[in-house]
Amino acid sequence: MLGLMQDQPLLISNLIDFAERHHGDGEIVSRRVEGDIHRYTWADVAARSRQVGNALDALHLVFSDRVATLAWNGYRHLELYFGVSGSGRVLHTVNPRLHPEQIAWITNHAEDQVMCFDMTFLPIIAAIHSKCSTVKHWIALCDTDNLPADTGIPGLRSYEAWIGGASSTYAWPSFDENSASSMCYTSGTTGNPKAALYSHRSTTLHAYAAALPDVMCISARDSILPVVPMFHVNAWGIPYSAALTGCKLVFPGAAMDGKSIYELMEAEGVTYSAGVPTVWQMLLGHLKANNLKFSTLKRTVIGGSACPPAMIAAFNDDYGVEVLHAWGMTEMSPLGTLCTLKNKHLLLSKEEQMKILLKQGRAIYGVDMKIVGDDGMALPHDGKAYGDLLVKGPWVVREYFKGEGGDPLVNGWFPTGDVATIDADGYVQITDRSKDVIKSGGEWISSIEIENIAMAHPAVLMAACVGMFHPKWDERPIVAVVKKPGQEVSRDTLIAFFEGKTAKWQIPDDVVFVDAIPLGATGKMLKTRLRELLKDYKLPGL
Ligand code: AMP
Repeated sequence: MLGLMQDQPLLISNLIDFAERHHGDGEIVSRRVEGDIHRYTWADVAARSRQVGNALDALHLVFSDRVATLAWNGYRHLELYFGVSGSGRVLHTVNPRLHPEQIAWITNHAEDQVMCFDMTFLPIIAAIHSKCSTVKHWIALCDTDNLPADTGIPGLRSYEAWIGGASSTYAWPSFDENSASSMCYTSGTTGNPKAALYSHRSTTLHAYAAALPDVMCISARDSILPVVPMFHVNAWGIPYSAALTGCKLVFPGAAMDGKSIYELMEAEGVTYSAGVPTVWQMLLGHLKANNLKFSTLKRTVIGGSACPPAMIAAFNDDYGVEVLHAWGMTEMSPLGTLCTLKNKHLLLSKEEQMKILLKQGRAIYGVDMKIVGDDGMALPHDGKAYGDLLVKGPWVVREYFKGEGGDPLVNGWFPTGDVATIDADGYVQITDRSKDVIKSGGEWISSIEIENIAMAHPAVLMAACVGMFHPKWDERPIVAVVKKPGQEVSRDTLIAFFEGKTAKWQIPDDVVFVDAIPLGATGKMLKTRLRELLKDYKLPGL
């Protein structure tokens, strides 16, 4: 017997319809590439998204055709999120930090028909447009007055001219909720990039889950500034959860430095933010150097790489801002875990609570997870056994776009490539990427733990731990360190700093001071590149 409830597909167009109807006067504020501050409402987003739908029809794009964006966080990008997917096309958000050749490659692989780009990225488009064989329409995200003459890009027109003539009346089509809605390529370190292809159903379910109190806890009373880019896993789904809850959105555009982010937060009463640790390092640096405080910021989600305990402590103790540590990945839309306390933890001391809050968090309903050993057998959830972390759920990939890389699943589970422990309360702690694990004398050393200790030293800005060949122990850890500007620390002092904080045999054998740690296109440390840079390095005494 089937249930007798109404059968309505979960479509992204419903989210924007809801936003318009129930909180149409909610504000969206953007720092534009043009330099000024733009403000309008959810009702305006909805009307202009429908103009996008009409404008795409006029280009004769059919169902599931791909529309690419190369753009910062801003209101026009938001309109494309809803207009492209809502009208049945697939939004392909491209990461502008990738090498231009890689951008051309993924544009061809995705068979993008339209490319919408911020003027910041005009030089990239000018360099690669002739290599993007499927793109028929080039749209600059500006008005006609800001469009330079003679770009050499065939048929280039401004977004405002493109949608300006289109009607804001548009009946969103209804279709199977499993239809593709958007795609994001992973910056994998081996092989060609592979795309996660999200559906309307997966995106809507993720939007509901992300808004829950023990997940991102997004409400109509929040003013959210997503620093996490809209070109990386849909800004962790925030635009969709925002439409669902009616919070205010504040977009930083291209100005991602600490000063610009801080000023925008203060000016717009931002209560909530989200981003990777490297961004927050810049923000905290700016606050400290200028003796500033936040007047409205209450919470921030930090994820994408392990959030160093020192950063959580600085936000909490110095600025009264709660940090929510999150873990996820492109293949998971991206949220997998978020770290919040349970009721039984409320009586614990602050120190005991902090030990829990440093972990990556508990599984969100909708994501099932387990850890397995080398033999594929499930390991206990005791907070000690560590193994490969596998996940499954309705917003986890089943396979990559065009079947790239073959079948990624192991008995229905997606292997994340991360190594983790899970404790009896379900809290996950990521110890490493499996390819970064350091094996010394048959025992594993967590590079994340070593990095967290190093970064707790007041003179250390950033630290990356890698294993180096050792004839007796196979590998020994060393730590590459970037010092804070104007601060000094010696190798021996830093090695001594590890004493008592980890087992003796896990203390790194050496410290290498470097000017910068190589970062990838999504702000994560590129250990492969670091190992290349250290290829002539020899451990002390060898
Ligand atoms: P991406 O698909 O580019 O978002 O990268 C996903 C990967 O980033 C994960 O598989 C983890 O290795 C890493 N990652 C994300 N969040 C965290 C976190 N909170 N702690 C440690 N690693 C993380």
